[in-house]
Amino acid sequence: MKKLIIKLISLMVISFSSFSCTASNDTKSEIQVSEIEVDKEYSVVILGGGIGALTSGIYLARAGYQPLIIEGDLPGGLITQSHSVENWPGETQISGTDLVDKIKEQAKKNGCIFLSKKVVDIDFSKKPTIITLEDSFRKDKVEKIKATSCVIAMGTSSNYLNIPGEKLYWGNGVSNCAICDGSFYKDKTVAIIGGGDAAVVEANYLSKLCREVYILVRKDQMRAKDKEKIKALEKRQNVEVIYNTNVTEINGDNNQVRSVTLVNNKNNDRSQLDVDGVFLAIGSKPNSTLFKNKIKLDTAGYIKVADDKQTSAKGIFAIGDIIDPIYKQAITAAGDGAKAAIAAQKYLENFDAPKQVIKFANAADIESPRVIEINSYEQFEKEIKSGVPVIIDFYASWCGPCKRIAPMLEDKAKILSGKVKILKVNVEKFRNISSKYQITAMPTIIVIDQNSNYLFKRMGPESISDIFNSLEKIKDKSPSEIDKYLKSLK
Ligand code: NDP
Repeated sequence: MKKLIIKLISLMVISFSSFSCTASNDTKSEIQVSEIEVDKEYSVVILGGGIGALTSGIYLARAGYQPLIIEGDLPGGLITQSHSVENWPGETQISGTDLVDKIKEQAKKNGCIFLSKKVVDIDFSKKPTIITLEDSFRKDKVEKIKATSCVIAMGTSSNYLNIPGEKLYWGNGVSNCAICDGSFYKDKTVAIIGGGDAAVVEANYLSKLCREVYILVRKDQMRAKDKEKIKALEKRQNVEVIYNTNVTEINGDNNQVRSVTLVNNKNNDRSQLDVDGVFLAIGSKPNSTLFKNKIKLDTAGYIKVADDKQTSAKGIFAIGDIIDPIYKQAITAAGDGAKAAIAAQKYLENFDAPKQVIKFANAADIESPRVIEINSYEQFEKEIKSGVPVIIDFYASWCGPCKRIAPMLEDKAKILSGKVKILKVNVEKFRNISSKYQITAMPTIIVIDQNSNYLFKRMGPESISDIFNSLEKIKDKSPSEIDKYLKSLK
């Protein structure tokens, strides 16, 4: 039988220093290699990469299974968009990204393997379950894997207002992520639409950056549960909450948002509010379209589960926001994840499910080329003058799309070894480098020729992956031919 091997996440560096008390002084790293084989039946596949998914992974890995975690489009889940989490037990205050990174590291250490792909179909009608995956950056690249059991942790997606101006100004004044885009509104005026916890979190964040922040709430009160955060918000001089108000239009000058049209839903009064930016925080809906007519959903599309988190299909569990119209907390998703993992173990006992087999890298794998993380300005100067074309990936720790492209870049660094160097620069640490190249959004790559001259810039995961995919096609050419090709893309 033709054996297809999906090459992926081949290297996972596991640092013991931050998580193991017994090994706290041990700086040694361990590298784990994984190959995903299409013919193999995976005991448990976890769909989603948020805190619930990672918790399930940790429990299942510790029980001796090797969970495959399919991370999807936003590795780490929605909490990575939260700049400050203050209700996670044991952490007085931590960013969503840092919290997820800690839990992910723990999952890797316990033996979970990660795959950065998108689930596009799932067939529960027979056993094993067949999951169809699409490459995040190559829609034509579709693969199927088999799973004895699954944990669905695919969360929710943000709602939209569907009003005039919303689509037109998306990315030019309209956003649903303050942590991603807030810095573009420094000392400006913004409006946040919504009265839930997300609106409060966004308002707190933006009030530290912006001149004025309006919160536009359609009812006469806010629905947010975190009353402490509401109190903190009310103390801020530059925050005003406007109740009983609907936004009916987002207006601009064709380039940028300039105002919103408001209607008071008590007296129908219309008014204009001048703003530079609009942030939507109007809730979300479950990402369950794939499961329609396959497992039981409620009328709002949330997956129905039993107490042990099993869905209407045997051996298929669901957890977190996709089953939860009410709480939607990271901690409740983690609790769900633990319950589903314990129930899945019980289910898997009925099968000859393979227990964990961890393969360790051989020396060649350990030494294989990787994306080079820049740690100093001097190192950066040296790397860009190394005589081969250089691609610099600018990223930030809170940037979800940057995390999405990271495994692809690692893969390409190996493929293009010796021909093109790939560097990564954290914009939070090296503002001087990012301002030199006028970086305004993430992820962005800058391409530099073999003589260290700036060639061009590309923004966004899709256009970045297009560049790398085209380079892969000419990987066997000489460095100077590759250099010539890059110049032609200028
Ligand atoms: P919610 O569903 O809780 O709130 C959505 C808000 O948007 C409500 O105020 C709702 O108004 C308003 N809204 C919805 N549609 C419209 C519309 N078309 N026009 C105007 N306003 C609209 O969503 P969140 O994303 O805020 O929170 C989701 C869950 O995640 C909650 O359980 C929340 O507790 C949790 N969460 C917790 C955080 C934390 O720090 N603990 C942070 C963020 C979220 P109305 O009230 O009138 O329906």
